Amino acid sequence: MSRTPVVGGNWKLNTNRQQARALLTALRASLDGLGGVELVVCPPAPWLGDASDLLDGSSLSVGAQNVHAEPAGAFTGEQSAAILAGTVSHVIVGHSERRHVFGESDETVAAKLRSVLDAGLRPLLAVGELQEEREAGWTAAVLRRQLTSAFEALDGLPEGFVVAYEPVWAIGTGLTATPEIAQEACAQVRSMIEERFDATTAEATRIQYGGSVTPGSVVQLAAQPDIDGALVGGASLDADSFTAICSAVAEAAAR
Ligand code: PEP
Repeated sequence: MSRTPVVGGNWKLNTNRQQARALLTALRASLDGLGGVELVVCPPAPWLGDASDLLDGSSLSVGAQNVHAEPAGAFTGEQSAAILAGTVSHVIVGHSERRHVFGESDETVAAKLRSVLDAGLRPLLAVGELQEEREAGWTAAVLRRQLTSAFEALDGLPEGFVVAYEPVWAIGTGLTATPEIAQEACAQVRSMIEERFDATTAEATRIQYGGSVTPGSVVQLAAQPDIDGALVGGASLDADSFTAICSAVAEAAAR
């Protein structure tokens, strides 16, 4: 079955407004209309309106990096899925920096995932193991725990659902997982989705790899049968690098 790969650019806590607008303009110029791949740009929250305006009518989508699980209320400083829905189409849920820097539990991630789906937005659900968990041989168990919790209250997954497999030891470290390691984990994620739902859902789910992806490393990663694109942090801040990554993923999908 052919799945349309997805490349996300997670800008994290980077760019001022001027830089963000320049990067968005450059990305539109180089990537609008690129076929065979879905593209999602995730700037910091204050620039989401700029992103929505500057990418309006293009083939690039806008995503948020985070969301609050409650739909509304006295939650100063937060954004709900309902609020984001006017501006973005996608939301990253469960990024390892949310889990490990901000202490988000599996339960919080599950609540956020539900709120995003309830609002009609498309989540990029991030999962992945710590270095010590991999060394202890717990990678599959960690992925199973994170996915089981995230999917607990769901009857099914919407068509084209996206999971990002992001080993924590590979994020922002330059230690890209080998294509073999990334493929093995993404295949495990797919088989866990089949166990939880069914084969059709598993086959239709897009599974990205994330962790120090570069224009060089993405070529082999994107060639793996269970890897359907990439979630990109550092390299998404450079228009040329992100364009090269998106183009390589589109080329791999066309083979
Ligand atoms: C990320 O932020 O999801 C990520 C994978 O970052 P980096 O590409 O910088 O490792």
